[in-house]
Amino acid sequence: MEQVNILVIGAGAVGLSIAHALAAEFEDVVVAEQEESFGRHTSSRNSEVIHSGIYYPQGSRKTELCVRGNNMLYAYCAQHDIPHRRCGKLVVATDAAELPALRELHDNGVRNGVAGLELLDSEACKQRVPQVCAVAGLWAPSTGILDTHTYMKRLADQAEQRGAFIVYDMRAQSIERDGDGWVVRFANGEVFCANVLVNAGGLFCGEVARMAGLDLEQRGLAIHWCKGEYYKTTKLDNIPHLIYPLPDPSGTFLGIHLTINLAGEVRFGPNAWYIDDIDYRFEERWLDEFHSAVNRYLVVDRDDLMPDDVGIRPKLQGPGDGFRDFHIALDAPRLVNLMGIESPGLTASPAIAQEALEMVRGIM
Ligand SMILES: Cc1cc2nc3c(=O)[nH]c(=O)nc-3n(C[C@H](O)[C@H](O)[C@H](O)COP(=O)(O)OP(=O)(O)OC[C@H]3O[C@@H](n4cnc5c(N)ncnc54)[C@H](O)[C@@H]3O)c2cc1C
Repeated sequence: MEQVNILVIGAGAVGLSIAHALAAEFEDVVVAEQEESFGRHTSSRNSEVIHSGIYYPQGSRKTELCVRGNNMLYAYCAQHDIPHRRCGKLVVATDAAELPALRELHDNGVRNGVAGLELLDSEACKQRVPQVCAVAGLWAPSTGILDTHTYMKRLADQAEQRGAFIVYDMRAQSIERDGDGWVVRFANGEVFCANVLVNAGGLFCGEVARMAGLDLEQRGLAIHWCKGEYYKTTKLDNIPHLIYPLPDPSGTFLGIHLTINLAGEVRFGPNAWYIDDIDYRFEERWLDEFHSAVNRYLVVDRDDLMPDDVGIRPKLQGPGDGFRDFHIALDAPRLVNLMGIESPGLTASPAIAQEALEMVRGIM
């Protein structure tokens, strides 16, 4: 049996960010990842957007950690040569009936402390993005994009330079309390005994939490998987900013938006529907929905939309539920438990790591 100080389960952006922060202060930090390298799930299947924090309720963890994470992530990218761009985003109202919702989004962003928000008329929207059709817009200059793979690579390399170990092909398959700590058995037969356990299992955080003995139904922490697809097009270029419709009123997702990557390539998505199994196959049955959603704010031919990526969100919000926040808590002695780290989890990852660090300081 291997004795370790802190065991982080999961090498996505959040697990790596936590290991990076912990390794600066604690010895013997180990990250165990079931796949053969980092970031094979949600952290490499997302929009790569550095969010500003306009959407979530004031005082929520999502708001607080997103607004803080936004600044921290830009600073980390600048310091460590991670490709990124503060390109800004335009949220558009496409008919007059959407104007109250647009103003409410602006006011919510202001309440959340997001800097630089500006309401624009139709002409000012066109000046920002000549191709866009909108009656009004909300300009959010602190939104940006980053190269997520390089971000995770830097975190992994620096965590290791600070003395952490990241071990791959290690799937935790049972977890038991042992005195003050935890015994974790892996599918390959390895057994680790840890003083502190961190659940950063992303899509599989529910499985990890159940193994550690938590009754998720009783705690209201059951995880729901929600899939989303992206379509790309090569017919649009020189789009300078991200373009979003108003968010879905159910709060399930942000609406089928347009993102650009660092090479200027354009894609649309993700949409959102709940699923029972993790399955990354592209289904293509939503093409018409995509075409009409996109054409409300931009003209694109149906034939010019090509299947691209697929991602799955680990949500605490089930079908028909209202807003659910990130859950980051000491749910059992010496267990830092992270559940429902969906969007804006990538943006928030440095602030989430700070939060986990403070929890571990409180334990050790
Ligand atoms: C479609 C989509 C778009 C999004 N867009 C954005 C965006 O633009 N901006 C933003 O800020 N956020 C966005 N997000 C959210 C963001 O991607 C996630 O919040 C973030 O990547 C979560 O990182 P994570 O490390 O918690 O999870 P993951 O990346 O899923 O990592 C968890 C890791 O744990 C490992 N693991 C799980 N169980 C075990 C086990 N038993 N043993 C060992 N290892 C295990 C998994 O293999 C995995 O590598 C989006 C999400 C989706 C799905």
